[in-house]
Amino acid sequence: MDFDHPVWEDEKWIVPTDWNIVSQRFEGWSSQAQAVIKVWAPSLPCILQPAHVDSNEPTKLLDKPDLATWAFWDTAPASTYTRGRVAMLGDAAHATTPFQGQGAGQAIEDAAVIMTVLSKVQDLKQIPNALMAYNQIRRPRAQQVVETSREYGKLLGMQSEGVGEDLEKMRENLETRMHWIWQRNQTAQLNGAVELFAESL
Ligand SMILES: Cc1cc2nc3c(=O)[nH]c(=O)nc-3n(C[C@H](O)[C@H](O)[C@H](O)COP(=O)(O)OP(=O)(O)OC[C@H]3O[C@@H](n4cnc5c(N)ncnc54)[C@H](O)[C@@H]3O)c2cc1C
Repeated sequence: MDFDHPVWEDEKWIVPTDWNIVSQRFEGWSSQAQAVIKVWAPSLPCILQPAHVDSNEPTKLLDKPDLATWAFWDTAPASTYTRGRVAMLGDAAHATTPFQGQGAGQAIEDAAVIMTVLSKVQDLKQIPNALMAYNQIRRPRAQQVVETSREYGKLLGMQSEGVGEDLEKMRENLETRMHWIWQRNQTAQLNGAVELFAESL
């Protein structure tokens, strides 16, 4: 993962690449990483040989015709998810990098909150209040998920400040870093939105 590459020139988000480019990108990495990319592998088990190569011939790992570079995108934090009777949710509001596996989960949390507050609406005029309550409850958490997902990517890519390639620090961090997401009391989140809605009337 290359977090220092903020500009993406290609129209497509998955573009073909080749062994030489990958090899250049990983220059200066640890000997283990270099070995994965650069090793000539006549002695590898057949299962690790690229399918297009005769297994009796020496080959390079990652030297594959379908090698590709993927662009990972997330959304900048929006100042609001709602205006009037319109609201954004899911990826439209807070698309995230994939490292925490949270894109769909956060979209479901949005939907649960919106459904709950809208079910309390007694009059069409109250819809903006209901959506504002959704915005107040969901936006901080969803945007924090986007932020921590980026940090998670750096951690896994050994580019996290203060952790780097220190496996012990990485282990400590990984043991608990998802707890705030997984252990959120969902009922409290729904009730919080309903309370905000009631207070706004
Ligand atoms: C490869 C991959 C792996 C993923 N793995 C995970 C995972 O493990 N865990 C996880 O939580 N998340 C994962 N995600 C993220 C997850 O898929 C998304 O966060 C989630 O689908 C977002 O849901 P959404 O309803 O907001 O958007 P979408 O699922 O993108 O739905 C939007 C829908 O709107 C439709 N649409 C677009 N424009 C229009 C239009 N003008 N008119 C009508 N319809 C329109 C689209 O066709 C689409 O069906 C993954 C994503 C990818 C790409």
